[in-house]
Amino acid sequence: MKALTYNQAPITELRDSLLEEASIRLLIKCEYLNHPLVSGNKWWKLKYNLVEAARLGKKRLLTFGGAYSNHIYATAATANELGFELVGIIRGEETLPLNSTLAFAKGKGMQLHYVTREDYRKKTEPDFQKKLTDLFGDFYLIPEGGTNELAVKGVAEFANSLLRELKFDYLSLPVGTGGTIAGIISGLDAEKKIIGFPALKGAQFLEREIRTYTDKENWQLMYDYHFGGYAKSTKELTDFMEQFERAHNIPLDPIYTAKMMFGIFDLVKQGFFKRGSTLLIVHTGGLQDRL
Ligand SMILES: *Cc1c(COP(=O)(O)O)cnc(C)c1O
Repeated sequence: MKALTYNQAPITELRDSLLEEASIRLLIKCEYLNHPLVSGNKWWKLKYNLVEAARLGKKRLLTFGGAYSNHIYATAATANELGFELVGIIRGEETLPLNSTLAFAKGKGMQLHYVTREDYRKKTEPDFQKKLTDLFGDFYLIPEGGTNELAVKGVAEFANSLLRELKFDYLSLPVGTGGTIAGIISGLDAEKKIIGFPALKGAQFLEREIRTYTDKENWQLMYDYHFGGYAKSTKELTDFMEQFERAHNIPLDPIYTAKMMFGIFDLVKQGFFKRGSTLLIVHTGGLQDRL
């Protein structure tokens, strides 16, 4: 199998009077620049899934997502690059014209198959998966959001490469399904402290999910920065995002990275991070409509 395109993403240091006062060094790993199309953590989550699909001789991939899913977008881009056929099981009814995510996925050859929200909830049940096999034949299944053991393995490799690249005390990232933070925890040493910012409201269930992949304890989730829930926002958040982008010339996405960055600045203000420490932020992407 040919390897996916990978661009080494730069690390930039953020300069801000707030950080100076708190004596915090803040570095951003701009992983959103790692591929011309995929943008971010999804690259690492897909890497070993694609290797495994090829190893098993699968010609077709099948995965799940909502109409705005970054995972659907990333899977379409990578599957197309490596020559897989691709089926996307999309939650809800078809809306025309297709939004940019689904138009992109379709353009990359993804066959879009819409299911009702009710059926979508059954997607992990054997009966439903049998129906999918009847409809689409043999395929390699990638779960919703792409989180599984192989995704965690890919992100752990990324985290491990960060250790070789630079010194830091804390690592922060946004959290959706928890797969990426699980990989980060696995790939870093126990001296690092990992702080995750769930984009979802009521995300306490994630702790158990993350513990299925790691038994380390050097991590923490910050539950107060969801701004109303997944894909919800407030004026405070959009104002912050605009001001941040103007000041630092780094684009954010409203679903994940803006909430995390807001949380980081808030915690710096509260004196959460030890003075004199270095905080590494992973910019996980979500910018496909903007790059
Ligand atoms: C998918 C995604 C996440 C969340 O990753 P999980 O592994 O589901 O926790 C974070 N940031 C961006 C930009 C994403 O697209």
